[in-house]
Amino acid sequence: SVLPVRRALISVSDKTGVEDLARGLARLGVELLSTGGTARLLSEAGIPVTEVGDYTGFPEIMAGRVKTLHPRIHGGLLGRRGEDEAVMAEHDIPPIDLLVVNLYPFEAAVAQPDCRLEAAIEHIDIGGPAMLRAAAKNLDGVGVATDPDQYADMLSAIEAHGGLEASHRFRLAVAAFDHVARYDAAISNYLSARPEAGAESAFPGQLNRSWRKASDLRYGENPHQAAAFYRDPDAPAGSFACHVSRQGKALSYNNLADADAAWACVGAFDAPACVIVKHANPCGVAVADHLVSAYDAAFATDPTSAFGGIIAFNRPLDDATARAIIQRQFVEVILAPAVSDAALAITAAKPNVRVLEIPDGPRPISGWRLQPLDGGLLVQDQDADLFADTGLRCVTQTPVDDALQADLDFVWRVAKHVKSNAIVYGREGHTLGIGAGQMSRVDSARIGARKAEDAGLSLAGAVLASDAFFPFRDGIDQAAAAGVRAIVQPGGSMRDEEVIGAADAHGIAMVFTGLRHFRH
Ligand code: 5GP
Repeated sequence: SVLPVRRALISVSDKTGVEDLARGLARLGVELLSTGGTARLLSEAGIPVTEVGDYTGFPEIMAGRVKTLHPRIHGGLLGRRGEDEAVMAEHDIPPIDLLVVNLYPFEAAVAQPDCRLEAAIEHIDIGGPAMLRAAAKNLDGVGVATDPDQYADMLSAIEAHGGLEASHRFRLAVAAFDHVARYDAAISNYLSARPEAGAESAFPGQLNRSWRKASDLRYGENPHQAAAFYRDPDAPAGSFACHVSRQGKALSYNNLADADAAWACVGAFDAPACVIVKHANPCGVAVADHLVSAYDAAFATDPTSAFGGIIAFNRPLDDATARAIIQRQFVEVILAPAVSDAALAITAAKPNVRVLEIPDGPRPISGWRLQPLDGGLLVQDQDADLFADTGLRCVTQTPVDDALQADLDFVWRVAKHVKSNAIVYGREGHTLGIGAGQMSRVDSARIGARKAEDAGLSLAGAVLASDAFFPFRDGIDQAAAAGVRAIVQPGGSMRDEEVIGAADAHGIAMVFTGLRHFRH
């Protein structure tokens, strides 16, 4: 049921698009009410508007703390249509059919490093949330907008039908409660992280994000587990969560988890790169001049594991690369910053293969890594850095030349994305063997070497990365026996001296990064 919009109240802090909206509403014969700053802006633009103080007969007081908190406003928003007309008439309360409000910019204010408590408190909006809740509660009769992105649809609906449809009002009401919930969460997070609240530190600043459900999933990690995928509404466009499907079946829970891991890893490289992931671990990674060569080399690391894998690229997927994949292997997901039409024509031969695009754009630079515990939650920030500020430090007498340096940089970037204990062998921009997720570092080293052997790849002249330090010299002896020429690792063991001595005894060069990359 469409209800007519006769009167609208506009009170916005973010004034984006409000002039066009107000002009459109006025043109459609809607009477406009507005608060101080908004009213001034509109009347300066020549749009007829009544100031809320004039409407209620009560002025804005206390520097804006009390503007709209008046029965003539809240009665107009809350009055039940078809029920409260008599009492509204008795008290001279005309209905307000449309509310346009966005709240004081609290989050932006407290994000300023020099924001004082007093200033933060003045950014706590009182009348705005009260009106939003009133209008959203009365969704049977009132429309409510909280975001400039909603204005155009709203205006064209009113133009077409004279008002908003019930389903439209319902969606807007949900968005309004979401806006208020986020706002209140921001206030409570900010205040509870203050020393006055007994907090030891301000970490984490903003935890209660209002995630939005992006889709239900068929099931979770296993078929008997229910699951859904949520997105952070603030995720920047280049985030994995903002992927767009170009082809294929719906993504599964494991697809999403693995594709996310692949996207993070492939983003670590500047040159054209390919990462193949299975069960959250890269099983082949390569950089090359051309995408298809990167794919070939990544695949060659471990063709057995690559079967049914997730394949990520950091360049647009071209037809040559798409053809190489489709002809060679079973693949679950292909993801790239873009997919050419020619490539899509080739992947179309296997219509179940999921092909995702993650448009080039900013990626999250911060954000929390959350891990649930039984009845609790672990929170940490991102493992954002690659090396310590001191940079790479060669600790052996055996020197590192430029070619070795480039190889070491490559395997170190890969190791950061492999579950601990992680050992990565590589040479000339591609992996040769990856040992992941073992309880002992020596086992990871053995597994990586055995995988290289199984794939028919030689470790002679290879380099090795270890995500954490070698506690004993045995790892170095083993690497030497396998033919490794150089090692990159964080350093910092009690027995570093013994480990460095072992490397020199074998003529192996060793570089310390000063930073560990455990990943569990
Ligand atoms: P304006 O720029 O129009 O003067 O103010 C707009 C802002 O005032 C909006 O963000 C709105 O949520 C807020 N607002 C509206 N009524 C009240 C009120 O009664 N008290 C407070 N503290 N804020 C209000």
